[in-house]
Amino acid sequence: MNAPVNAPADDRRRAELAANLAAVERRIDVACAAAGRPREDVTLIVVTKTHPAGDVRLLNGLGVRHVAENRDQEAAAKAAELADLDLDWHFVGQLQTNKARSVASYAAEVQSVDRPRLVEALAAAARREGRELGCLLQVALDAPENAGEGARAPEGAAGRGGVPPGRVGELADAVAAAEGLRLDGLMTVAPLAGHYAGRQRAAFERLMEISSGLRATHPAANMVSAGMSSDLEEAVAAGATHVRVGTAVLGVRPKLR
Ligand SMILES: *Cc1c(COP(=O)(O)O)cnc(C)c1O
Repeated sequence: MNAPVNAPADDRRRAELAANLAAVERRIDVACAAAGRPREDVTLIVVTKTHPAGDVRLLNGLGVRHVAENRDQEAAAKAAELADLDLDWHFVGQLQTNKARSVASYAAEVQSVDRPRLVEALAAAARREGRELGCLLQVALDAPENAGEGARAPEGAAGRGGVPPGRVGELADAVAAAEGLRLDGLMTVAPLAGHYAGRQRAAFERLMEISSGLRATHPAANMVSAGMSSDLEEAVAAGATHVRVGTAVLGVRPKLR
């Protein structure tokens, strides 16, 4: 442990994070109860992007094990600084193939797998690292259902990436066949535009339908990552197994990109 050079500020931040975390845990409890689901069906992942490694250390001390980041450079630095902690790092951002090797060195789970070339790059990287890398396919619910070869989400979707629903099956097969990768399930971000704009519950129910289809051929791929600070209740109601919460735990991000 580093010397506590800033102990009073650390104590204040710890108290703030503890209160926020307790409030989010309560929201998940209530959402599970309302949905008739056992609380242990839902795992909280705290999205720590833009917040300092010190916050992640405090959160770990408060019992948080799963954390998520969306930029490799930032995530790699934090993972290195916090290597003494028992943390599972989830990568949730758009990922360039040239960052695959770095991400494969620290991530437990890549939640944003959305194209065959990325599958190849991650598999090669995982094998080089001698690790098995968990993968979720990021589904673009704002893409046309039956988009053709190479189709991606429309650019209006802020370049969030994702595979169109109609192409989940073959991408899943590619991940499942790739040595070094483990197909764990699906992830989505509620669309801001298109058919599901402002309809989070409907979006997450569509994701659950796609998940049922996936599990028919890949029964172990049962993770469903959906829901953020503003819509975690809708995700839990629909059946999500993982929620990704940033702002409600850590406060408004210092800088938005
Ligand atoms: C930032 C982010 C979140 C968390 O969003 P909040 O609204 O801050 O809870 C969840 N998922 C992804 C993919 C993100 O990039």
